[in-house]
Amino acid sequence: VAGVREVRIVQTAEKTERQLIAVGSGKGGVGKSTLSANLAIALKRLGHRTGLVDADIYGPSQPRLMAAEGERPMAHDKQLLPIMTRFGVPMLSMGQLVAPEKALAWRGPMASGALGQLVDARWEHVDTLVVDLPPGTGDVQLSMIQKHRPAGAVVVSTPQDLALIDALRAIDLFNTAGIPILGLVENMAGYVCPHCGEVSDPFGNGGAEAEAARLGIPFLGRVPLDIAIRRASDAGEPPAAGEEKAARPFLDIAEKVAA
Ligand code: ADP
Repeated sequence: VAGVREVRIVQTAEKTERQLIAVGSGKGGVGKSTLSANLAIALKRLGHRTGLVDADIYGPSQPRLMAAEGERPMAHDKQLLPIMTRFGVPMLSMGQLVAPEKALAWRGPMASGALGQLVDARWEHVDTLVVDLPPGTGDVQLSMIQKHRPAGAVVVSTPQDLALIDALRAIDLFNTAGIPILGLVENMAGYVCPHCGEVSDPFGNGGAEAEAARLGIPFLGRVPLDIAIRRASDAGEPPAAGEEKAARPFLDIAEKVAA
Protein backbone atom coordinates (compact mmCIF):
# COMPACT_ATOMS: atom_id res chain seq x y z
CA VAL A 1 0.00 0.00 0.00
CA ALA A 2 1.46 3.35 -1.02
CA GLY A 3 2.84 5.38 1.85
CA VAL A 4 2.71 2.61 4.40
CA ARG A 5 6.21 1.34 3.68
CA GLU A 6 7.66 4.52 5.10
CA VAL A 7 6.69 3.56 8.62
CA ARG A 8 9.70 3.97 10.86
CA ILE A 9 9.91 1.61 13.75
CA VAL A 10 11.06 3.25 16.95
CA GLN A 11 11.67 0.86 19.81
CA THR A 12 11.10 2.36 23.23
CA ALA A 13 13.78 1.68 25.80
CA GLU A 14 11.20 1.05 28.48
CA LYS A 15 10.28 -2.59 28.89
CA THR A 16 6.94 -3.57 30.27
CA GLU A 17 5.41 -6.92 31.07
CA ARG A 18 2.03 -5.72 29.93
CA GLN A 19 0.91 -6.97 26.56
CA LEU A 20 -0.99 -4.66 24.27
CA ILE A 21 -3.48 -6.10 21.82
CA ALA A 22 -4.44 -3.60 19.14
CA VAL A 23 -7.86 -3.96 17.54
CA GLY A 24 -8.06 -2.29 14.14
CA SER A 25 -10.26 -2.13 11.08
CA GLY A 26 -10.00 -0.68 7.63
CA LYS A 27 -13.08 1.46 8.04
CA GLY A 28 -15.67 2.52 10.58
CA GLY A 29 -18.93 0.86 11.44
CA VAL A 30 -17.73 -2.73 11.06
CA GLY A 31 -18.04 -3.47 14.79
CA LYS A 32 -14.46 -2.88 15.91
CA SER A 33 -15.52 -1.20 19.17
CA THR A 34 -18.14 -3.85 19.87
CA LEU A 35 -15.55 -6.54 19.32
CA SER A 36 -12.94 -4.74 21.48
CA ALA A 37 -15.30 -4.42 24.44
CA ASN A 38 -16.46 -8.02 24.22
CA LEU A 39 -12.96 -9.34 23.62
CA ALA A 40 -11.72 -7.55 26.75
CA ILE A 41 -14.57 -8.98 28.83
CA ALA A 42 -14.14 -12.46 27.33
CA LEU A 43 -10.40 -12.41 28.10
CA LYS A 44 -11.25 -11.39 31.65
CA ARG A 45 -13.72 -14.30 31.88
CA LEU A 46 -10.95 -16.62 30.73
CA GLY A 47 -8.86 -15.47 33.69
CA HIS A 48 -6.65 -12.82 32.12
CA ARG A 49 -6.20 -9.55 33.94
CA THR A 50 -7.49 -7.35 31.17
CA GLY A 51 -7.88 -3.62 30.69
CA LEU A 52 -9.43 -1.66 27.84
CA VAL A 53 -8.24 1.50 26.09
CA ASP A 54 -10.61 3.34 23.79
CA ALA A 55 -8.34 5.15 21.35
CA ASP A 56 -11.04 5.67 18.74
CA ILE A 57 -10.76 9.41 18.62
CA TYR A 58 -13.47 9.76 15.97
CA GLY A 59 -16.13 7.85 17.85
CA PRO A 60 -15.19 6.86 21.38
CA SER A 61 -17.97 4.42 22.18
CA GLN A 62 -16.48 2.38 25.01
CA PRO A 63 -18.02 4.44 27.84
CA ARG A 64 -21.44 3.54 26.43
CA LEU A 65 -20.56 -0.08 25.65
CA MET A 66 -19.01 -0.61 29.08
CA ALA A 67 -21.77 1.22 30.98
CA ALA A 68 -19.40 3.92 32.22
CA GLU A 69 -20.88 6.99 30.54
CA GLY A 70 -20.26 10.25 32.35
CA GLU A 71 -17.47 8.85 34.50
CA ARG A 72 -14.30 10.91 34.56
CA PRO A 73 -10.93 9.37 35.40
CA MET A 74 -8.80 10.86 38.18
CA ALA A 75 -5.08 11.44 37.91
CA HIS A 76 -2.31 10.79 40.39
CA ASP A 77 1.21 12.19 39.89
CA LYS A 78 0.14 13.16 36.37
CA GLN A 79 -0.82 9.57 35.66
CA LEU A 80 -4.42 8.69 34.80
CA LEU A 81 -6.22 6.18 36.99
CA PRO A 82 -8.40 3.80 34.95
CA ILE A 83 -12.09 3.52 35.77
CA MET A 84 -13.23 0.12 37.01
CA THR A 85 -16.26 -1.05 35.04
CA ARG A 86 -18.93 -3.35 36.41
CA PHE A 87 -17.47 -6.13 34.27
CA GLY A 88 -14.20 -6.22 36.20
CA VAL A 89 -12.34 -4.67 33.27
CA PRO A 90 -10.73 -1.29 34.01
CA MET A 91 -10.87 1.13 31.12
CA LEU A 92 -9.93 4.54 29.83
CA SER A 93 -11.41 6.30 26.81
CA MET A 94 -10.54 9.26 24.63
CA GLY A 95 -14.19 10.11 25.22
CA GLN A 96 -13.39 10.64 28.91
CA LEU A 97 -10.56 13.06 28.12
CA VAL A 98 -12.34 15.31 25.69
CA ALA A 99 -15.81 15.89 24.29
CA PRO A 100 -16.12 13.82 21.09
CA GLU A 101 -16.96 16.84 18.93
CA LYS A 102 -13.70 18.48 20.10
CA ALA A 103 -11.63 15.34 19.51
CA LEU A 104 -12.55 15.48 15.85
CA ALA A 105 -10.56 18.68 15.47
CA TRP A 106 -7.43 17.30 17.10
CA ARG A 107 -4.18 17.30 15.21
CA GLY A 108 -2.05 14.19 15.00
CA PRO A 109 0.40 15.12 17.79
CA MET A 110 -2.42 15.84 20.22
CA ALA A 111 -4.13 12.57 19.46
CA SER A 112 -0.82 10.72 19.84
CA GLY A 113 -0.19 12.47 23.15
CA ALA A 114 -3.63 11.49 24.40
CA LEU A 115 -3.02 7.88 23.32
CA GLY A 116 0.20 7.91 25.37
CA GLN A 117 -1.71 9.10 28.43
CA LEU A 118 -4.23 6.29 28.07
CA VAL A 119 -1.72 3.51 27.43
CA ASP A 120 0.75 4.67 30.10
CA ALA A 121 -1.93 5.14 32.75
CA ARG A 122 -1.74 3.36 36.08
CA TRP A 123 -2.85 -0.07 34.86
CA GLU A 124 -2.02 -1.86 38.06
CA HIS A 125 -2.58 -5.61 37.92
CA VAL A 126 -3.44 -5.52 34.23
CA ASP A 127 -1.40 -7.87 32.08
CA THR A 128 -3.39 -7.63 28.85
CA LEU A 129 -4.48 -4.28 27.49
CA VAL A 130 -6.96 -4.31 24.60
CA VAL A 131 -6.69 -1.11 22.55
CA ASP A 132 -9.65 -0.09 20.37
CA LEU A 133 -7.97 1.90 17.59
CA PRO A 134 -9.68 4.39 15.29
CA PRO A 135 -10.61 2.93 11.90
CA GLY A 136 -8.09 3.22 9.09
CA THR A 137 -4.37 3.89 9.12
CA GLY A 138 -3.78 7.37 10.55
CA ASP A 139 -1.71 9.12 13.21
CA VAL A 140 -3.08 7.26 16.21
CA GLN A 141 -2.36 3.89 14.59
CA LEU A 142 1.18 4.93 13.64
CA SER A 143 1.80 6.24 17.15
CA MET A 144 0.45 3.01 18.60
CA ILE A 145 2.75 0.93 16.42
CA GLN A 146 5.87 3.05 16.78
CA LYS A 147 5.71 4.08 20.43
CA HIS A 148 3.74 1.38 22.14
CA ARG A 149 4.67 -1.75 20.17
CA PRO A 150 1.58 -3.97 20.60
CA ALA A 151 2.24 -7.68 21.06
CA GLY A 152 -0.26 -8.34 18.30
CA ALA A 153 -3.14 -7.00 16.29
CA VAL A 154 -6.68 -8.19 15.69
CA VAL A 155 -8.36 -6.89 12.54
CA VAL A 156 -12.16 -6.73 12.23
CA SER A 157 -13.98 -6.79 8.91
CA THR A 158 -17.47 -7.36 7.61
CA PRO A 159 -17.92 -9.93 4.85
CA GLN A 160 -18.35 -7.25 2.20
CA ASP A 161 -15.55 -7.06 -0.32
CA LEU A 162 -15.14 -3.33 0.16
CA ALA A 163 -14.61 -3.64 3.87
CA LEU A 164 -12.16 -6.44 3.20
CA ILE A 165 -10.11 -4.34 0.82
CA ASP A 166 -9.90 -1.71 3.55
CA ALA A 167 -9.03 -4.38 6.08
CA LEU A 168 -6.09 -5.38 3.90
CA ARG A 169 -4.65 -1.90 4.37
CA ALA A 170 -4.88 -2.23 8.14
CA ILE A 171 -3.27 -5.66 7.96
CA ASP A 172 -0.51 -4.30 5.76
CA LEU A 173 0.20 -1.49 8.21
CA PHE A 174 0.79 -3.93 11.07
CA ASN A 175 2.71 -6.37 8.87
CA THR A 176 5.06 -3.67 7.61
CA ALA A 177 5.82 -2.59 11.15
CA GLY A 178 6.48 -6.16 12.26
CA ILE A 179 3.45 -6.37 14.59
CA PRO A 180 2.15 -9.95 14.54
CA ILE A 181 -1.39 -10.28 13.19
CA LEU A 182 -3.23 -12.39 15.76
CA GLY A 183 -6.02 -12.82 13.24
CA LEU A 184 -9.03 -11.60 11.37
CA VAL A 185 -12.56 -11.47 12.82
CA GLU A 186 -15.57 -11.50 10.51
CA ASN A 187 -18.34 -9.44 12.09
CA MET A 188 -21.95 -9.16 10.90
CA ALA A 189 -21.46 -12.49 9.20
CA GLY A 190 -24.92 -13.85 8.64
CA TYR A 191 -28.13 -12.19 9.80
CA VAL A 192 -30.02 -13.85 12.61
CA CYS A 193 -33.76 -13.29 12.08
CA PRO A 194 -35.18 -12.02 15.38
CA HIS A 195 -38.47 -13.82 14.69
CA CYS A 196 -37.53 -17.28 13.51
CA GLY A 197 -33.78 -17.44 14.23
CA GLU A 198 -32.99 -18.35 10.63
CA VAL A 199 -29.54 -17.20 9.49
CA SER A 200 -29.16 -15.48 6.11
CA ASP A 201 -26.13 -13.77 4.54
CA PRO A 202 -26.91 -10.21 3.38
CA PHE A 203 -23.22 -9.39 2.89
CA GLY A 204 -22.10 -12.78 1.61
CA ASN A 205 -20.37 -15.40 3.68
CA GLY A 206 -16.89 -16.78 4.20
CA GLY A 207 -15.07 -13.89 2.49
CA ALA A 208 -12.97 -13.02 5.52
CA GLU A 209 -12.03 -16.63 6.23
CA ALA A 210 -10.93 -17.16 2.63
CA GLU A 211 -8.98 -13.90 2.74
CA ALA A 212 -7.27 -14.88 6.00
CA ALA A 213 -6.26 -18.22 4.44
CA ARG A 214 -4.93 -16.45 1.37
CA LEU A 215 -2.88 -14.07 3.53
CA GLY A 216 -1.68 -16.86 5.80
CA ILE A 217 -3.07 -15.21 8.95
CA PRO A 218 -5.30 -16.89 11.53
CA PHE A 219 -9.07 -16.63 11.19
CA LEU A 220 -10.42 -15.94 14.68
CA GLY A 221 -14.10 -16.52 14.00
CA ARG A 222 -17.32 -14.89 12.94
CA VAL A 223 -19.91 -12.96 14.89
CA PRO A 224 -23.43 -12.92 13.41
CA LEU A 225 -25.36 -9.75 12.62
CA ASP A 226 -27.81 -10.04 15.47
CA ILE A 227 -30.14 -7.31 16.68
CA ALA A 228 -29.67 -8.70 20.19
CA ILE A 229 -25.97 -7.71 19.99
CA ARG A 230 -26.89 -4.17 18.95
CA ARG A 231 -29.51 -3.83 21.67
CA ALA A 232 -27.28 -5.25 24.38
CA SER A 233 -24.40 -3.00 23.28
CA ASP A 234 -26.53 0.14 23.35
CA ALA A 235 -27.79 -0.81 26.79
CA GLY A 236 -24.27 -1.22 28.20
CA GLU A 237 -24.71 -4.96 28.59
CA PRO A 238 -22.01 -6.53 26.43
CA PRO A 239 -23.00 -10.06 25.30
CA ALA A 240 -19.61 -11.39 26.41
CA ALA A 241 -20.62 -10.64 30.00
CA GLY A 242 -23.95 -12.40 29.63
CA GLU A 243 -25.20 -15.92 29.36
CA GLU A 244 -23.10 -18.63 27.73
CA LYS A 245 -24.91 -18.69 24.37
CA ALA A 246 -24.59 -14.95 23.73
CA ALA A 247 -21.03 -14.85 25.03
CA ARG A 248 -19.82 -17.91 23.09
CA PRO A 249 -18.62 -16.25 19.84
CA PHE A 250 -16.55 -13.79 21.86
CA LEU A 251 -15.17 -16.43 24.25
CA ASP A 252 -14.08 -18.50 21.24
CA ILE A 253 -12.32 -15.51 19.71
CA ALA A 254 -10.69 -14.65 23.05
CA GLU A 255 -9.41 -18.22 23.43
CA LYS A 256 -7.70 -18.00 20.06
CA VAL A 257 -6.29 -14.52 20.81
CA ALA A 258 -4.87 -15.71 24.13
CA ALA A 259 -3.36 -18.89 22.67
P1 ADP B 1 -16.88 0.45 14.74
O1 ADP B 1 -16.18 0.50 16.04
O2 ADP B 1 -16.21 -0.44 13.75
O3 ADP B 1 -17.19 1.81 14.16
P2 ADP B 1 -19.20 -0.37 16.28
O4 ADP B 1 -18.65 -1.43 17.16
O5 ADP B 1 -19.41 0.98 16.88
O6 ADP B 1 -18.33 -0.23 14.96
O7 ADP B 1 -20.55 -0.93 15.64
C1 ADP B 1 -21.34 -0.13 14.77
C2 ADP B 1 -22.81 -0.40 15.06
O8 ADP B 1 -23.11 -1.76 14.67
C3 ADP B 1 -23.21 -0.30 16.51
O9 ADP B 1 -24.50 0.21 16.60
C4 ADP B 1 -23.17 -1.74 17.03
O10 ADP B 1 -24.07 -1.96 18.09
C5 ADP B 1 -23.62 -2.48 15.79
N1 ADP B 1 -23.06 -3.84 15.71
C6 ADP B 1 -21.76 -4.20 15.75
N2 ADP B 1 -21.61 -5.53 15.61
C7 ADP B 1 -22.87 -6.03 15.48
C8 ADP B 1 -23.41 -7.35 15.31
N3 ADP B 1 -22.61 -8.41 15.21
N4 ADP B 1 -24.76 -7.48 15.24
C9 ADP B 1 -25.57 -6.39 15.32
N5 ADP B 1 -25.13 -5.14 15.47
C10 ADP B 1 -23.79 -4.94 15.55
